[in-house]
Amino acid sequence: MAKVIVVGGGPSGIMAAISAAQNNHQITLIERNEFLGKKLKLTGGGRCNITNNRYIEDFFDKVVNNNKFLYSSFYSFTNEDLLNYLSSIDVEYKIEEENDLKVYTKNDKALDLIKSLEEDLKNKNVEIIYNKKVTDLIIEEDQVKGVVINDDIATQINQGENLYADKVILSTGGKSYAHTGSDGSMYQVLENHGHTITKTLPALCPLKTAETWVKNLQGISMKNVKISTKLKKKKISKCGDMIFTHFGISGPVVLIIDSYINKVLAGEHVEIFIDFMQDTSKEEIISLIRNNPNKNISTNLKTILPDGFVRELLNILNLSDVKGNSLTKEDENSIVEYIKNMKLTITSSLGFKGAMVTCGGVSTKEVDASTLESKKIKNLFITGELLDLDAETGGYNLQIAFSTGYLAGLSL
Ligand SMILES: Cc1cc2nc3c(=O)[nH]c(=O)nc-3n(C[C@H](O)[C@H](O)[C@H](O)COP(=O)(O)OP(=O)(O)OC[C@H]3O[C@@H](n4cnc5c(N)ncnc54)[C@H](O)[C@@H]3O)c2cc1C
Repeated sequence: MAKVIVVGGGPSGIMAAISAAQNNHQITLIERNEFLGKKLKLTGGGRCNITNNRYIEDFFDKVVNNNKFLYSSFYSFTNEDLLNYLSSIDVEYKIEEENDLKVYTKNDKALDLIKSLEEDLKNKNVEIIYNKKVTDLIIEEDQVKGVVINDDIATQINQGENLYADKVILSTGGKSYAHTGSDGSMYQVLENHGHTITKTLPALCPLKTAETWVKNLQGISMKNVKISTKLKKKKISKCGDMIFTHFGISGPVVLIIDSYINKVLAGEHVEIFIDFMQDTSKEEIISLIRNNPNKNISTNLKTILPDGFVRELLNILNLSDVKGNSLTKEDENSIVEYIKNMKLTITSSLGFKGAMVTCGGVSTKEVDASTLESKKIKNLFITGELLDLDAETGGYNLQIAFSTGYLAGLSL
């Protein structure tokens, strides 16, 4: 039986502690907040999109960076294993078939999931220390021997208290939504001890556009659009819902696109093209505008597109709302272009305060993918979003957190 310290009471640290406790180790979990899972509570808009009901094989395509690293983690603790475990602790869930197979808590309450996990930690005799921040690692001859803890940020100038253990699991998360406790400070600690930190960037983040007229469309939601862009001559297209905002665009498909363009966006602007009616051809749109020659173009378009979107279409293209048969070929082309190929220039994202996850982090090259043990520091394990791993929306990021946590706990 080893004495184990787990740092971070998010999904990854909780699962690491549970998995390690199942293997009869003596576990202490340290969380800097006064309760567990502060970020987990916000997930899925408070409903918690726990995982996805796709085959686990299909998860790899949804991981944006370093998907191959996750092979052992995903197969050691699959989405099915996760859901079986949750059932065993009386957490009910539902699969939203029509919502991209996302799995949510049955009563739409992330908090209930957190309470059940906390209960299970207690049942497995995991000691939990709240309100203490780990500010350093105790390392002797390339082996971790424990951690240094402090009361809070303000007292970090104090020396702190040493806590010793045979093994340490670090699950302190990334650096987005820093007010939840994951502020990225562990990156520096690990860098000081010889780990490489891959450049961190906001991912799954709303995007700002150069086109200021976009704010006229603010609040308008568009269903199942296709956003395309070219990165180093490679075309990327993603489909889903989006919403216009006062600064640019947001919504599920925009967040996903951000995860693919964020590295380029760090240095330059990126052009994207939006098809608002991907299942309708140009010819079909033209025939709809023209086929009802006695009705205005806006009346015809409103049968297939939201009112506000059509109103602004006329404003932005500077068109009069004429009857379908009076429309010039040139205006017809600009309407079709606006609907099928709207070009927007993305200047930046909202940054870490708006990002759901962090792209970058502890280099996966320096961590053993089959155990999650550091290749630089013996007996130190690194899990969850702290690692250079990030995925699309859909429950995949939480599955990464749970699976890597589970595997680390199993590998002690
Ligand atoms: C608004 C929002 C919604 C999201 N929705 C979803 C969703 O529905 N589905 C999905 O799959 N993903 C979602 N995500 C992403 C998902 O929440 C994260 O990927 C996941 O929480 C990462 O888990 P983690 O345990 O690695 O890190 P975290 O959840 O960040 O947990 C890390 C924990 O460590 C603690 N900690 C940090 N530093 C220290 C320290 N030095 N000492 C002690 N404790 C420390 C923190 O307080 C925190 O509790 C969402 C993210 C956000 C921000």
